[in-house]
Amino acid sequence: MVAATQLAAKGARVLVLEKYVIPGGSSGYYRRDGFTFDVGSSVMFGFSDKGNLNLITQALEAVGHKMEVIPDPSTVHFHLPGDLSVLVHREYDDFVTELNAGDIARKFIKDQQLLSFIDAEVLCDRHFGGINYPVGGVGGIAMSLADGLVDKGSEIRYKANVTNDLSRKDYEKKKEFVATEIIKRLEKKLFPGLQDSIVLKEDWNKDLLY
Ligand SMILES: Cc1cc2nc3c(=O)[nH]c(=O)nc-3n(C[C@H](O)[C@H](O)[C@H](O)COP(=O)(O)OP(=O)(O)OC[C@H]3O[C@@H](n4cnc5c(N)ncnc54)[C@H](O)[C@@H]3O)c2cc1C
Repeated sequence: MVAATQLAAKGARVLVLEKYVIPGGSSGYYRRDGFTFDVGSSVMFGFSDKGNLNLITQALEAVGHKMEVIPDPSTVHFHLPGDLSVLVHREYDDFVTELNAGDIARKFIKDQQLLSFIDAEVLCDRHFGGINYPVGGVGGIAMSLADGLVDKGSEIRYKANVTNDLSRKDYEKKKEFVATEIIKRLEKKLFPGLQDSIVLKEDWNKDLLY
């Protein structure tokens, strides 16, 4: 669905084939007795209006939609052995203050490399903007994307099962093309020299390209 929104934003008319009766997959929903339940995803990152990884906001915007969300004041609350309690606040400044106040990680972990990794992990962009719950449920995201796509002249066909008629050779070629394309983009945006340092290995028994 997100891929379709990005194509639609660039002016393409997209045909989405969905084998189920509604959009969303693992981020879909079902209804019982007037209530709507999420079937899978319920904790949503990516709704922020800042950072680079607010992919849900970007996908919705691409088709002219925006959803009302309820922010969660905390992101995670770790309860670990030894009464170690670490609250990852929604606001990074509060979180950093909490970490510094107790110097929590350093008190329990001595390995310098692991400490550096934790610093990088907790402060990276991934969780920027925290958790947001879309009003009406997570299923509303796919519904909004679907509505937006249709508004832009694209089409979604439900109960449309795509079958794989690719020959093994075509499939292998396409898989390698996609992997190479991803590496190229990563190299351009983040890691100069990445392409030269990677050798693609294939394990067709496990259907893996790594
Ligand atoms: C129980 C559970 C809880 C989760 N919780 C979270 C969470 O809290 N936060 C979070 O960020 N992520 C969570 N996830 C992960 C998240 O839901 C998935 O990563 C995300 O939905 C994957 O999206 P997708 O579009 O790649 O695939 P999917 O959601 O699997 O969608 C694939 C779609 O393709 C359709 N399809 C499949 N085969 C065919 C075919 N042959 N022809 C046509 N259509 C086909 C399916 O019907 C489906 O609609 C959770 C997942 C589960 C299962």
